[in-house]
Amino acid sequence: MDFELSEELSTLQKTVRRLVADKIAPRAREVDRSGEYPQDFFDAFRDAGVIGLGLPTDLGGGGAGILGLTLAIEEVAKASNTAALMLLLTRLPTSPILIAGSDAQKQKYVAPLATGEVRAGFGLSEPQAGSDVMGMRTRAVRDGDDWLLTGTKCWMSGVVQADWYTVFAKTSEDPAARNHDSISAFIVERSWEGVTVGNVDRKMGVKGVDTGELLLDKVRVPAENVIGEIGGFRLCMLGLNAMRPIVAARGIGLAEGALMYATEYVKQRAAFGTTIADFQGIQWAIAKMATEIEAARLLTDRAAWLADQGRYTKEWVPYLSMAKYYASELAVRASGLAVQMLGAAGYMEDHPTEQWYRDARQLTIVEGTSQVQLGLIAKGVLDHDLWWD
Ligand SMILES: Cc1cc2nc3c(=O)[nH]c(=O)nc-3n(C[C@H](O)[C@H](O)[C@H](O)COP(=O)(O)OP(=O)(O)OC[C@H]3O[C@@H](n4cnc5c(N)ncnc54)[C@H](O)[C@@H]3O)c2cc1C
Repeated sequence: MDFELSEELSTLQKTVRRLVADKIAPRAREVDRSGEYPQDFFDAFRDAGVIGLGLPTDLGGGGAGILGLTLAIEEVAKASNTAALMLLLTRLPTSPILIAGSDAQKQKYVAPLATGEVRAGFGLSEPQAGSDVMGMRTRAVRDGDDWLLTGTKCWMSGVVQADWYTVFAKTSEDPAARNHDSISAFIVERSWEGVTVGNVDRKMGVKGVDTGELLLDKVRVPAENVIGEIGGFRLCMLGLNAMRPIVAARGIGLAEGALMYATEYVKQRAAFGTTIADFQGIQWAIAKMATEIEAARLLTDRAAWLADQGRYTKEWVPYLSMAKYYASELAVRASGLAVQMLGAAGYMEDHPTEQWYRDARQLTIVEGTSQVQLGLIAKGVLDHDLWWD
């Protein structure tokens, strides 16, 4: 067992830390206020070769794997969860393709994303089908060799900027079918006829990267854009399992940023003839949060390591889900603590704590809510996938 980062990963961590200090941190608050897409963040990531970090080298990526991307996102999320989301979006739509897609799909869609030429989105959720994925109504109907896709996807991150989308649709004869092989995944290009971006959400946090609707009206998708096989939903969903540590890293970075900020604040905040940091009640809060952050990092680093080994199938799900569950809940607690430690100042826009508090809130919802993760962890224990004998 080795808890040290490799020299490569350690260098990567330092490089991203510098990039964040120079290009991301100074603009993070402004992006939150304006809500405008920070193209400069994307350019900075692309120019530094970070945009394709987690994608394979033979597709032009950095080959740092999920662990490398996780470490980078942790650094970025200390300053901006919006920027962290931009990096995450290099993997969320591509994961199903990397796992189940054809070589031609990887070359055509993943390779240009690895070099920052295009962007992509991930369309699973629908207005009436979030956690209950099987309730989706988007349909794909065969038409000759092609498929015609019709339906509405919602809450899609990066929908406005994306050039292509990974979209899930029912391909079964019976649209009400609830078995896994009733759903297939497709690559849909933004420029195709019948593809429209609908309402863009007005959201609570992580502003700058929009979420919104993708409307599909009899969009003609060629057979070569089916990811994996028809009915291959289960295979594609392995991509979401592999994403768990990447989302977790957004929570850990946020928690670290919030705790560091609040700690520096209480060290200089005078009260009762001393500083707030001198009080044991505050010190214990800091100590507990620091312990939780390190626990989350260990869970997440192991989950990333597992995912890089291809261990994202059912028997590894509890380990992956624990990282996402624990780190995202931690982000909510840590950002809440940071607001509290700053008192009124933490509630005001003069400090980034209020932004972190809002940003953290989405992490327990996206890519499988905390309740969904708990269900998966529990199933793992009940099935003895996670058992200590
Ligand atoms: C900022 C943001 C970005 C997003 N980006 C994307 C994206 O890029 N692509 C995409 O496809 N989707 C995206 N989503 C959607 C996200 O994946 C869904 O919100 C999520 O899956 C939950 O679905 P829901 O919102 O419909 O909640 P629901 O499924 O309606 O759940 C509501 C509540 O009930 C709980 N619940 C549901 N089922 C159970 C159960 N069986 N047991 C116990 N509790 C349960 C949930 O945990 C939740 O607390 C995004 C969401 C947000 C907020």
